[in-house]
Amino acid sequence: MSRLIVVGGDAAGMSGASQARRLDPDLDIVVYERTNWVSYAACGVPYYVGEDVRELRQLQARTPEQFARTDIDVRLRHEVVAIDTSAKAVTVHDLDAGTSSQEQYDLLLYGTGARPLLPAIEGLDINGVFQVRTLDDAAAVRSAIGENPQHAVVVGGGYIGLEAAEAFHNLDIPVTVLEMAGTVLSRTMDPEMGELVASQMRELGIDVCTNTRVDRIAGTDSRVTGVEAAGITYPADIVVLGLGSAPNAELAKAAGIALGPTGAVAVDNHQRTSAEGVYAAGDCAEAINRITNEPVNLHLGTIANKQGRVAGTNMGGGDASFPGVLGTAITKVADIEISRTGLSLAEANAAGFDAVATGLRSSTGSHYWPKSTQMRIRTIVDRATGKLLGAQVVGGPGSGKRIDTFAMALWTGLTGADLEYVDLSYAPPFSGVWEPANIAGRKAASILD
Ligand SMILES: Cc1cc2nc3c(=O)[nH]c(=O)nc-3n(C[C@H](O)[C@H](O)[C@H](O)COP(=O)(O)OP(=O)(O)OC[C@H]3O[C@@H](n4cnc5c(N)ncnc54)[C@H](O)[C@@H]3O)c2cc1C
Repeated sequence: MSRLIVVGGDAAGMSGASQARRLDPDLDIVVYERTNWVSYAACGVPYYVGEDVRELRQLQARTPEQFARTDIDVRLRHEVVAIDTSAKAVTVHDLDAGTSSQEQYDLLLYGTGARPLLPAIEGLDINGVFQVRTLDDAAAVRSAIGENPQHAVVVGGGYIGLEAAEAFHNLDIPVTVLEMAGTVLSRTMDPEMGELVASQMRELGIDVCTNTRVDRIAGTDSRVTGVEAAGITYPADIVVLGLGSAPNAELAKAAGIALGPTGAVAVDNHQRTSAEGVYAAGDCAEAINRITNEPVNLHLGTIANKQGRVAGTNMGGGDASFPGVLGTAITKVADIEISRTGLSLAEANAAGFDAVATGLRSSTGSHYWPKSTQMRIRTIVDRATGKLLGAQVVGGPGSGKRIDTFAMALWTGLTGADLEYVDLSYAPPFSGVWEPANIAGRKAASILD
């Protein structure tokens, strides 16, 4: 019987294990996960903190017992500390027993995820300073919220920082977001759209400070008291860090498995790494950007699940290829919906396109529909071919998921002119008779005329 060892028991690892099991009932499958949790939704952590989700266990998709019913052996609190690709063995440390063992594999799925980036500043370990990445983090933040904090500071204005800010806002805890770039969401959205998000957040009463680099977190022995940035102290009795993440690729690197230019594990379209029998998927692995054809390392659950499934299909004896990514993502802050796909203008120009951006204002329903909300759409277009390269949406309820129309247009290589006449749905509660994507297509085409 062949043996599959999975390192990391979340989106990529468990998608891969489950899919391999579906295809090969005889495979011996063992999953090593170093935390207390398997198959959990990190994406739900901010919503648990903000009390949209009541119970922590709701964020767990399946338990070890449920996996055992499909003969997948999940070992929690077991850390893989070394991989020997020539002996096809891993060294596993049992964190509770304090013992180590060598385990042989025929197939290995490397799904170790990503870790938070931390700034080199004083005070990160002060009581009251949190990450919002794991379910244990979620429980710790909720418990601190139970102590009635008077002011929260979120360091970092990316997706996770904004979702954390929304959680505090929902709980009526005054919150300040400190972001060192000129706008929020600076790594994913064009500055014009980031600024729009920041200004709408300020209208909600969330204090957003851009161009603000944090120098130090201050506190007493027992508790955080504030965050210092550019000579100003922002008072805080709870601080959340959301400063981005880096792939957990060290274990692979130490095993001689090739990393790509992004620093994540290099994979082919079958999720195979450079080592015989070793696959990688999820946040720790690269993916090909379908527009630039260059490897990227994006930390999105959508990609982790799909890559895990592709790896599982191939490990289970099937044949699947991962088709690449666009970086389509969505979030919200209260009623502000924010989404993006493809390249930003800066990314497009950096990739060598002669790109141009065009924007429009539209609404989520007919002008006379009482619940219509406003939205701003920005599209990035290649002057040479007229093809769409990217899109971003900021607007009220009903606007964000419109990004999926643009993602499909990018996926299939549509030009703005193609998108103008795509047959999209209409009724007054849902859009104008020209769906905003049709209008965006027309604008994208006309800017080239
Ligand atoms: C707060 C938050 C919100 C998010 N929201 C969204 C969202 O709305 N939409 C979206 O698409 N994505 C979102 N994401 C990203 C998404 O959660 C990740 O992309 C996804 O979880 C990646 O899955 P993964 O399996 O690759 O890695 P992970 O989920 O990080 O899992 C890797 C697992 O490997 C374990 N591990 C690592 N090394 C070892 C080792 N040596 N031995 C044993 N175990 C090991 C880790 O403990 C971890 O459990 C969010 C992430 C966070 C933190």
